[in-house]
Amino acid sequence: TVRVRIAPSPTGNLHIGTARTAVFNWLFARHHGGKFILRIEDTDLERSRPQYTDNILEGLRWLGLNWDEGPFFQSQRLDLYKEAVQKLLDQGLAYRCYTTSEELETLRETQKARGEAPRYDNRHRNLTPEQRAAYEAEGRSSVIRFKIEDGREIVWNDLVRGKMSWRGSDLGGDMVIARASEEGSGQPLYNFVVVVDDIDMQITHVIRGEDHIANTAKQILLYEAMGAKIPEFSHTPLILNMEGRKLSKRDGVTSISDFQQMGFTSEGLVNYMTLLGWSPPDSTQEIFTLEEAAKEFGFERVNKAGAKFDWDKLDWLNSQYIHKTPVDKLTDLLIPYWQAAGYKFDGGRERPWLEQVVTLISQSLTRLVDAVPQSQLFFSDTVEFSEEGSTQLKQEGSTAVLEAIVTALENQPQLSEAFAQDIIKQVVKEQKVKKGLVMRSLRAALTGDVHGPDLIQSWLLLNQIGLDKPRLSRAI
Ligand code: GLU
Repeated sequence: TVRVRIAPSPTGNLHIGTARTAVFNWLFARHHGGKFILRIEDTDLERSRPQYTDNILEGLRWLGLNWDEGPFFQSQRLDLYKEAVQKLLDQGLAYRCYTTSEELETLRETQKARGEAPRYDNRHRNLTPEQRAAYEAEGRSSVIRFKIEDGREIVWNDLVRGKMSWRGSDLGGDMVIARASEEGSGQPLYNFVVVVDDIDMQITHVIRGEDHIANTAKQILLYEAMGAKIPEFSHTPLILNMEGRKLSKRDGVTSISDFQQMGFTSEGLVNYMTLLGWSPPDSTQEIFTLEEAAKEFGFERVNKAGAKFDWDKLDWLNSQYIHKTPVDKLTDLLIPYWQAAGYKFDGGRERPWLEQVVTLISQSLTRLVDAVPQSQLFFSDTVEFSEEGSTQLKQEGSTAVLEAIVTALENQPQLSEAFAQDIIKQVVKEQKVKKGLVMRSLRAALTGDVHGPDLIQSWLLLNQIGLDKPRLSRAI
């Protein structure tokens, strides 16, 4: 059975690139009825933080990428790695290297001067016991290096990129698999622990970003050295900005929690991520749930080329999801944004009223956070006038119209839609003015602007919380 994994490092919040890799892993696992495993790669103790682990787990849950096993933490599996390092040492496939950082620096400079790529020259590969003892006596610390033969050919059939071929000499010399550490047991490094874990967790398909291709070449040699079956590899395209460069913080995109704050729905965002590098067989279909995508998902339809991040498309998808969200659920989604903006639910702003506000504005929302400016007029006690709004109130006849409306409201402070329409008709007749003037003046007085959501509905909502009369009176 298919077993895949996502292996984020908790050195930052859940990144969009990691999340997209998680989406592809999840889809592949579900398509094949396999297992999706979560492993937290927290071996870098200095940079790992529990709050990042929390952010990663919350982000995956929010996106609906439920996992079947884990989370496993590498920091709790150090004995397993230690054992595996020792085995390679015992078999003569790895060795202790005492080269100092100064020596490595000198080596790099010499290579640079000769115009060569930097690589370790394997100088400590065949130390005699006496040499080793001498270095130890000097008090040098050591790292563990894994032997890589220059002439080795490494070939795999990548599920996205087809036949991949590397030579041992491309890999920078014998690779460090564990660093020295205070207790002397050694701190195992990424390329090594990944292989130990992927073997132990019986991972059948390694699906990750194309920035890991060179690591895959190294890791295949480690699988062989440990006598394990080599999984399938699939390197997914990078996410690029619209200029075709790798998406970075400068593009205003970092973590899934940022997207959440920016007002994206989990469904809209995850749908968009699915399309970042993959297209369904029916390429006209753009809106689907994770479950629907999983039915169709396969690597034959994943692009090799980088996937451009298109904000307009994400916004469009997001608006589609907002527009079809039922009003009660949408209200739940919007409340946190209103709260974050400092809006209070007092003075009659109760649930049924809130839901009416949501109904009024829902179709014009692209991002959830748009509800904050679009509903401000219902939450603040005072109106902010735009230039057009205050100009409107200075139009001839405007004051008389508003006075007539206020008078009409005296008789029936509780407004209904029919009564509101009646008031407008009556004022048009009495004042001998165009309906447009009445509507524009009313809107300017109530909302401070000359455009906005449906006027009658807005009026009714303001009337329910007693804000219409004071606003009209103030505008006179
Ligand atoms: N911790 C690595 C990363 O976040 C995992 C890469 C892999 O999937 O092997 O990039």
